[in-house]
Amino acid sequence: MDKIVSLAKRRGFIFQSSEVYGGQGGAWDYGPLGVELKNNLKRAWWRANVLQRPDMVGLDAAILMHPRTWEASGHVGHFTDPMIDCRACKHRFRADHLVTGVAPTAKGDAVRFSADRGTEADVLAGLRAAAKKAGTSVDEGQVRVAALHGPDAHLVGPSTNAPCPTCGEVALTEPRQFNLMFKTFVGPVEEAAAQVYLRPETAQGIFVNFANVVTSMRRKLPFGIAQIGKAFRNEITPGNFTFRSREFEQMEIEFFCKPGTDDEWHQRWMNDRMAWYTNLGIDASRLRLRPHDPDELAHYAKGTSDIEYFFPMGWSELEGIANRTDYDLKQHIEFSGQSLTYFDDETGEHLVPYVIEPSAGADRAALAFLLDAYHEEEVPAGEGKTETRVVLKFHPDVAPVKVAVLPLSRNEKLTPTAQQVYANLLRGLRDCVVQYDDSQSIGRRYRRQDEIGTPYCVTVDFETVESDQAVTIRDRDSMTQERVAIADLVPALRQKLGWDG
Ligand code: ATP
Repeated sequence: MDKIVSLAKRRGFIFQSSEVYGGQGGAWDYGPLGVELKNNLKRAWWRANVLQRPDMVGLDAAILMHPRTWEASGHVGHFTDPMIDCRACKHRFRADHLVTGVAPTAKGDAVRFSADRGTEADVLAGLRAAAKKAGTSVDEGQVRVAALHGPDAHLVGPSTNAPCPTCGEVALTEPRQFNLMFKTFVGPVEEAAAQVYLRPETAQGIFVNFANVVTSMRRKLPFGIAQIGKAFRNEITPGNFTFRSREFEQMEIEFFCKPGTDDEWHQRWMNDRMAWYTNLGIDASRLRLRPHDPDELAHYAKGTSDIEYFFPMGWSELEGIANRTDYDLKQHIEFSGQSLTYFDDETGEHLVPYVIEPSAGADRAALAFLLDAYHEEEVPAGEGKTETRVVLKFHPDVAPVKVAVLPLSRNEKLTPTAQQVYANLLRGLRDCVVQYDDSQSIGRRYRRQDEIGTPYCVTVDFETVESDQAVTIRDRDSMTQERVAIADLVPALRQKLGWDG
């Protein structure tokens, strides 16, 4: 992860929010390349899920919603995480992330160890290290490891003296429930009646507009509504770079279908969403679909499977695909008193549709695509030597810069033609970023473009201007070069980028 964080900053993908003031925790700014990367992902998602499907439409609902929305959805009552503080070092943890263990030692006393996220093996290693430091060893047969909120919670709660993972003091508080919704006020008076929430998910904006879309678009079941937008969660422990942020973007679909057809649609959406990632180049061996255990399911869900990516911290959720049943629409019917039912022409009855929800994060996707694209390769550097090249092997649809025009040097004979080629590409490859770069040696410029994942570099050399009116196209992955007439350059690149044919 460290390499990606550093590349992301150095090359203008992602910066810490408000860095000049020391940073704002859990918030990130996308730089010139990051915004292109994220826009490309959002565009690819919209294309696959709205433009190319006859059964989907789009929506862009407001972030500020009527506060009753969040009572109906269950967020006011349930959208909480258990929080634990250390009284000694003031560090804060999510209780359900803490793992901790205790083991008797050969000396007859006990050692304890805690970690903020970790596996059983991490705790065992920590216990062994603690015993070794005390000049003894653990009784391996008597080790007890538990998550603070697991079935064995009673073994390890504060009453049994779990140490703080950060400072080691035995000073943890009991877990307290903490609501993750950000609150703010509408209008000038900060009173309870004026309080609203920043939406913690985009989904509810879709549910409350269900009847509007059915009526205005004359939609029949099954059909879905897609939305991309910001969501806010006051996460107790943001971290792992952009993976867990307090402000992030979601790409959500609510797919409405007749009760009884929901399981089939759930399966179809799981297949479609897995294929979306692999079609855009994500390594299938780093992607998996994990069904939730029954005790993990959200209060509204009949079944949920997460699409997980193998991030540096281990398998973690990229997207959740839930069968939300008719829960949300029924809740909004009850809380609003409005009719959000669907009239079925075939049976002549009103029904409340079931809902399948594929809910993805644009920021987690951008992080996964960055990590997946990152490669270090040994390449020849002349005189029998090799050097390491860093290359982001993005799918062309995902790459922030599609083509770079690189004159061999700043020689005045080359510049006018190179500028002309650049201008042609700006016109011929509209809607994507084409860069022009004539600084430093051509080798260093290729490396720079490799490092930001540009699929094709177009090189203008002396032959171009003196003899053949042709340029070379260099392929990022194979590093092979192909000579193409300037007149054929736009169609050749469009084809390589997968835009035509
Ligand atoms: P987690 O268990 O990681 O907190 P979640 O199950 O609460 O996630 P959902 O409510 O299912 O997440 O949200 C759908 C998607 O929104 C997630 O799969 C993820 O891609 C994205 N997402 C959720 N929370 C965050 C966050 N704090 N930062 C970035 N993306 C997020």
